[in-house]
Amino acid sequence: AKKTRRGGVKVFQERMLYSRQLHNQMATELRDAIAAGEFTLYYQPVVDLASGEIRGAEVLVRWNHPQRGLVMPDEFIPLAEETGLIIDLGRWILCEAVMTFARWRETVPLSSDFRLRVNVSVAELQRIDLVDYVREVLRDSLIDPAFLVLEITETALVTGGDVETYSLLSLKSLGIGIEIDDFGTGYSSISYLRNLPVSMVKVDRSILSQSSGNISQNEFIAAVIQLIRAAGLDAVFEGIETKVQVERLLEMGCVSGQGYYFSRPVPEAAMLELLRNSVRL
Ligand code: C2E
Ligand code: CA
Ligand code: CA
Ligand code: CA
Repeated sequence: AKKTRRGGVKVFQERMLYSRQLHNQMATELRDAIAAGEFTLYYQPVVDLASGEIRGAEVLVRWNHPQRGLVMPDEFIPLAEETGLIIDLGRWILCEAVMTFARWRETVPLSSDFRLRVNVSVAELQRIDLVDYVREVLRDSLIDPAFLVLEITETALVTGGDVETYSLLSLKSLGIGIEIDDFGTGYSSISYLRNLPVSMVKVDRSILSQSSGNISQNEFIAAVIQLIRAAGLDAVFEGIETKVQVERLLEMGCVSGQGYYFSRPVPEAAMLELLRNSVRL
């Protein structure tokens, strides 16, 4: 028995060593990739559900890996957050997104209520210099701050301490919008919806996907919409994949959303094409 146990410990230690090596190797790779500029931004239209008109875009990062091809964010954002590399990556994303948007403004017609939505991790929110960076990017790009919305996850907002609160309030004072992301996966209550300096709520796609056709689930969605509206905020649904879902959301009074039904996230050229043709998605 003793021997087995020792063997077990050894195997365990080897695995730990292996996974730590792999972890370090990936972190190094990620650091080099940021320096080499191997990232690219995709854009997913946010539309007016009734007319199909484009009312904004969510910015979603991808890693253009020289060997592995396009790597999705779920495979590297958690590591970037854990290693702190998200600070540099997040700055690049924000700057690139805002500069790109400044170009769009000169080439395609955009509705005045168009919103560019950029995801921000809690680690970024915890840096008190985030607001200085955002201010700088806005100043350099010359865009009206009202065009920019930062998406921050529900969990990050609710568990936030002093620094997060400071960041949120100062970001808001710049004139940009703050949106709660992944609403419905955490603590979702009306008291915090009322108290946080947020203007929009992005409802997590699990709320919609669990609900196909089921009546009590529809009531659940209606209740979520009511909760958000009672707090005086706008609801945006993500993960809309079918026409039935669009119709149901419209019946329940929800006006905007995004999802594969309208468009998958696309590279800049394709997004420009959608905007240029002002396609009714
Ligand atoms: P998220 O912010 O909740 O983004 C929505 C995700 O849902 C995106 O996945 C999008 O492609 C996907 N999606 C959109 N419509 C549909 C649909 O109709 N059906 C389904 N099944 N999925 C849909 P993606 O691009 O893989 O991003 C995953 C997550 O990675 C994001 O979740 C976000 O948490 C994170 N992420 C992506 N880009 C960034 C970024 O620039 N910065 C930070 N900090 N995080 C990012
Ligand atoms: Ca998001
Ligand atoms: Ca989300
Ligand atoms: Ca998410």
